[in-house]
Amino acid sequence: IAVKYIHNMERPVLPGVKNIVAVASGKGGVGKSTVAVNLAVALAKSGARVGLIDADIFGPSIPKMFGSEDSRPAGVKIDGRDMIVPLEKYGVKFLSIGFFVDSDSAVIWRGPMASNALKQLIMDANWGELDYMLIDLPPGTSDIHLTLVQTLPVTGAVIVTTPQDVALADVVRGASMFRSKSIDVPVLGLVENMAWFTPAELPDNKYYIFGKDGGKMLAEKLGLKLLGQIPIVQSIREGGDQGVPIAANADSVNGMAFADVAKSVM
Ligand code: ADP
Repeated sequence: IAVKYIHNMERPVLPGVKNIVAVASGKGGVGKSTVAVNLAVALAKSGARVGLIDADIFGPSIPKMFGSEDSRPAGVKIDGRDMIVPLEKYGVKFLSIGFFVDSDSAVIWRGPMASNALKQLIMDANWGELDYMLIDLPPGTSDIHLTLVQTLPVTGAVIVTTPQDVALADVVRGASMFRSKSIDVPVLGLVENMAWFTPAELPDNKYYIFGKDGGKMLAEKLGLKLLGQIPIVQSIREGGDQGVPIAANADSVNGMAFADVAKSVM
């Protein structure tokens, strides 16, 4: 994807970063962070230089998904400025708002506080040269979304949904937010997560637990690209809980599903 500087800025905020991709969802629990983490790892495995910012103030889950809950990023002085050094796992540099906020008080943060924290993660960290910076946004539409597009030239948004009706209605709202005049961020496409389930003992069967092809049909209706359909797989959930993203596993079929999503984003 070409770099698109949407806003006229006097100086590029992150001159070393080629593409900034927001990962969004209409509602929580659809697998947005799971997709963000695995997409980041898959992009890194394909040779890209990748950064990931966890901006999901209400449920920062990336430290856990990278097995780094007990780590804290270090600081460094660059040209007299205090900078945060992103952590690095599976070839991905990352920072989480969760490293800087106590999770019990996060929910009572007012919008501006959350927005300022996001700005710091972006501008006061030593990201260096990146081909892709992914930003895992909070679900829905919030001040954080506005801050992001006002602070950074966002290349595009990836929207994650399940095939379920209620998730889909929220996707329409999310997509129209990105496409609105004031935000104007191209939607790169939709990822349909939890698309089906296949039990190990019935490998030829697909059970469409949340409905069949909901994301695919919505993508067609909204004129969006379907970036991939990811099944419900126990090892995807376990990978998240154990801090080893499935995309890091070279021989996993389900890891390959994320590699395909990465290819359609690149
Ligand atoms: P969100 O960021 O949208 O709130 P998460 O990525 O945290 O959602 O996912 C919610 C839960 O669902 C997590 O426990 C995660 O491991 C699990 N999950 C997400 N996608 C899948 C999948 N394709 N198969 C199995 N479990 C999944």
